[in-house]
Amino acid sequence: MNKKLGINKALLILINLFLLLFNTTSIYAKEDTETQKNILIIHSYNENFIWTRDIMSGINSVIDDSNNKFNVYIDYMDLKNINNDAYIKNFYDLEKSKYKDINFDVIICSDDGALNYLLKYRDSLFSKVPVVFCGINSFNSTLANKENLYTGITENISAEDMLKTITSFQPELKVLNILVGSTETGKITEKDIKNAYIKMGLHFQCNYFIDTNVDKVKDLIRSSVKNTAFLFAGDPISDYLNNPKYIRTIKDDFFNNTSIPLYSFWDFDIGYGTVGGRLISGFNQGKAAGDIALKILNGYPVNKINIITSDNNKYVFDYKKVTKYKIPIKKLPEDSVIVNKPFSFYEAYKPLVITTAIIVSLLIFIIITLILFAKHKLESEKQINSNYEELSSVYEELAATEEELRTQFDELQESEELVRTSEERFRLAVAGSNDAIFELNCKTDKIFLSETWTEISGYSVKESSSFFISYWSKYIIYSDFKKLIHDFHKCIKENKDFFRNEFRLKINNEQFKWILCKGKILINDEGKPVKMSGSLTDISDRKNYEQKIKHMAYYDSLTNLPNRTLFIEKLNALIKSNKIGAVLFLDLDEFKKVNDTLGHHYGDELLVKISNKLSFLLSENSIISRFGGDEYLILLPYIKKYEDAAYICSKIMNALKKPFIINQTPNYVTASIGIAMFPYDGNNVDIILKNADTAMYKAKENGKNQFCFFNQIMGDELLKYRIIENELRDAVKNNELLIYYQPQIDMSNSSIIGMEALLRWKNSKLGFILPNNFIPMSEKTGMIIEIGAWIFQNVCSQIKLWKDKNYKFNSIAINISPIQLRQQNFLDVFTEIIKKVDFPKNLIELEITENVLIDSLEDNIEKIKQLKKLGVKIALDDFGTGYSSLNYLRILPIDKLKIDKSFIDGICSETQQKLITEEIIQLSHKLNYSVVAEGVETEEQVKALKQMKCDFAQGYYFSKPVPADAIEEILKSNS
Ligand code: C2E
Ligand code: CA
Ligand code: CA
Repeated sequence: MNKKLGINKALLILINLFLLLFNTTSIYAKEDTETQKNILIIHSYNENFIWTRDIMSGINSVIDDSNNKFNVYIDYMDLKNINNDAYIKNFYDLEKSKYKDINFDVIICSDDGALNYLLKYRDSLFSKVPVVFCGINSFNSTLANKENLYTGITENISAEDMLKTITSFQPELKVLNILVGSTETGKITEKDIKNAYIKMGLHFQCNYFIDTNVDKVKDLIRSSVKNTAFLFAGDPISDYLNNPKYIRTIKDDFFNNTSIPLYSFWDFDIGYGTVGGRLISGFNQGKAAGDIALKILNGYPVNKINIITSDNNKYVFDYKKVTKYKIPIKKLPEDSVIVNKPFSFYEAYKPLVITTAIIVSLLIFIIITLILFAKHKLESEKQINSNYEELSSVYEELAATEEELRTQFDELQESEELVRTSEERFRLAVAGSNDAIFELNCKTDKIFLSETWTEISGYSVKESSSFFISYWSKYIIYSDFKKLIHDFHKCIKENKDFFRNEFRLKINNEQFKWILCKGKILINDEGKPVKMSGSLTDISDRKNYEQKIKHMAYYDSLTNLPNRTLFIEKLNALIKSNKIGAVLFLDLDEFKKVNDTLGHHYGDELLVKISNKLSFLLSENSIISRFGGDEYLILLPYIKKYEDAAYICSKIMNALKKPFIINQTPNYVTASIGIAMFPYDGNNVDIILKNADTAMYKAKENGKNQFCFFNQIMGDELLKYRIIENELRDAVKNNELLIYYQPQIDMSNSSIIGMEALLRWKNSKLGFILPNNFIPMSEKTGMIIEIGAWIFQNVCSQIKLWKDKNYKFNSIAINISPIQLRQQNFLDVFTEIIKKVDFPKNLIELEITENVLIDSLEDNIEKIKQLKKLGVKIALDDFGTGYSSLNYLRILPIDKLKIDKSFIDGICSETQQKLITEEIIQLSHKLNYSVVAEGVETEEQVKALKQMKCDFAQGYYFSKPVPADAIEEILKSNS
């Protein structure tokens, strides 16, 4: 027993300690305890209890809102942890000592435990201090007695509202599991639900579970079928120690995740798995109690304050659950509090957002209006300015225009008269003009033409009023038409006023007329042609004439081949553009003879035929040009190699082999061709032509009827030739010429019967030069005339000299070149000299060659006759080398015949030459000519000639030609 007492004592000490530590008492606003009112708040449970905290917040909300300051004392009894009489007695003792000096104005208590404590101890502790209670389930009869100064608010579940909520959320509900506690409160709750169920006439099944373990509850929920719900009422579930538990203290989130809807009567279960409904709120209980307490503090009589028994619950729902069970938020009662709603700024600050939006919109509207207004103002200002400027300039213009108009009016009156006269004049001019007048409308493309056009073209004017292009393209030669259009567009493009074009108008299938079109173009402001008017003139005559002139300038009138000018132009162009090509210099052999024997007309006809053949033969690219006489120049631009040029030449020579038939007579022609290639043989026209010419001469020299390429040796020869030519010009003047004499021997007695004068030239640069090297050149250049005259005079002087010295000789022979004889004044010049000499004229013997006779035979025969009349003797030189027609001999008035060395060379053997020589000698003797053998070099020749009864001989056998003084020695011995 003693032991038991000892344990009890120890327990009490522990409890006291516990109370000191945990049942803390708070006091607010202590500073003025004298005047301020004192409030004591006693909670049944500890301050960590959520329900108690909510009640405290409710009370505080009232105290804070009232502008009064109170001294608030709070005690927490913590009856959920410990609840027995000893504990309550200790709590009483503690308060008694704590508050012995304080007079409270009001006491607020929460829940049944604290109220029961006050009912038992208030009067001894706080005599007649009014008590306001809240959270009370079990209503005590003492409370109804108002004299006891107890008032407050009861805690009632809203069973009916809860069932309504459940059925409206789950109309198909079949089972409702209701979890209740075995406490007093639990029983009351169960009873309320049952009453409401009956009252509402519900049909789903209700199962009541009392003081159910957490795990059991979980199993129940897990095994639930569809259309089941759970309702937590009172202290519904308990842990293993059978302590009541709330779902918020269960950590595993089971309740929050289950798909079975859970309901509870308390707002602190919201957010931990329950859906919601009309819930008992700790805060509302506290607030209601606070309000009553405040009334009492403000002096309101306590006995006049009725106990509030109606529920002060509120509708609270969990947004997550409501949406989870697909219940529209709108369906919830209007004053519902919705928790767990996702934060919406708009919702939270709705008025602020709306106000801000309105202000911002208003500001934007004002700014836009202002901008628009400013802009409009600026524009109007600008407009006004420009309008003003325009107006003033218009005014100025108007003023000027008025003045101008006045003058124009005057001018117009004058010009009207002028127009009338000029129109008349124009009509007359159009009618009378040789040109057609036209006007082309560039926009419509139509053309007006005067009547004269019909006269010119033969086409009707009516026809011409059709479109420009279609009209003209029909009648103008296509290439000209293209150029006409091109020129017209070019004219427009280059902004030219005047247009000029020449074109060919078809008259019929073969003929055309040349038309000159001259027009003036009228161009509008945009630079486009509006119209063109002008004249169309027939210029056919002029054109034809021009073309003829052009042809004459560039073509040979006989053969129609390009002439020298055109040839040179073309060659020049090719050389300048660095082209390769060949030039052929073609000279017909012996063509002179054709002219001389058959006449110029015949020669011309032959030339035309040859030209045609050449044109036919050679490619169109070649240019065949007659260079005068019987010379042709052929340009072959496509020939790049020497052998190709050679091929062309042989082709030409082969073609010429075929006779040319004129008057049914065949004519045989050969040609000598010189070839020069550019740029190899010269890089300008002059050099190329000169070198081709040189090559041609070489071909002639080599025996004619052949072609020859130009080469540098030829060139060198030519150069030498040119030097000789140059030196020879001054040879007479410089006394460089000498005369040698070669004796002629009488075969009968070996005496000298005469001499032949042979020309020699001693030049300081070139040395001693034989006649064959310069006589042909002097003949070509005509220098032979001067030289011939010099020889003649010198020989005459020599004859005079030697005759004066009485040397014996019959004659001295002087060589006369055919060129000299051909001179018109030859006879006059010769006569003049010969008349002056005072020695017998027969001492002079003139040697002429056969060839002299070939050119215009009759002419020359006449000349020879004249010479003979003067008394001189005539010898025919080089007989046998030329035509050597014995027929000539009969008609020639000669004295001597000189047989050429080529015959003498062969007289010692039985050759043709020997026979011919014999024949010639015999014939000559019959004709009374004496015969001279030339180039006698051997004794045998002398013997043979003697046998043949040759009269005279001349040759190295007797003497070489020697200077005059050397001859004198011979003559001395001879006489
Ligand atoms: P040609 O009239 O037939 O003159 C004879 C030529 O034969 C001379 O040559 C002479 O020297 C040469 N000759 C004479 N005997 C012999 C001989 O036995 N053997 C050889 N191999 N030659 C002999 P040359 O003096 O050189 O004259 C050559 C030609 O030049 C002349 O041929 C003549 O056609 C021409 N010629 C010379 N002097 C004159 C001249 O004063 N006036 C004209 N127009 N021509 C002249
Ligand atoms: Ca001679
Ligand atoms: Ca001779």
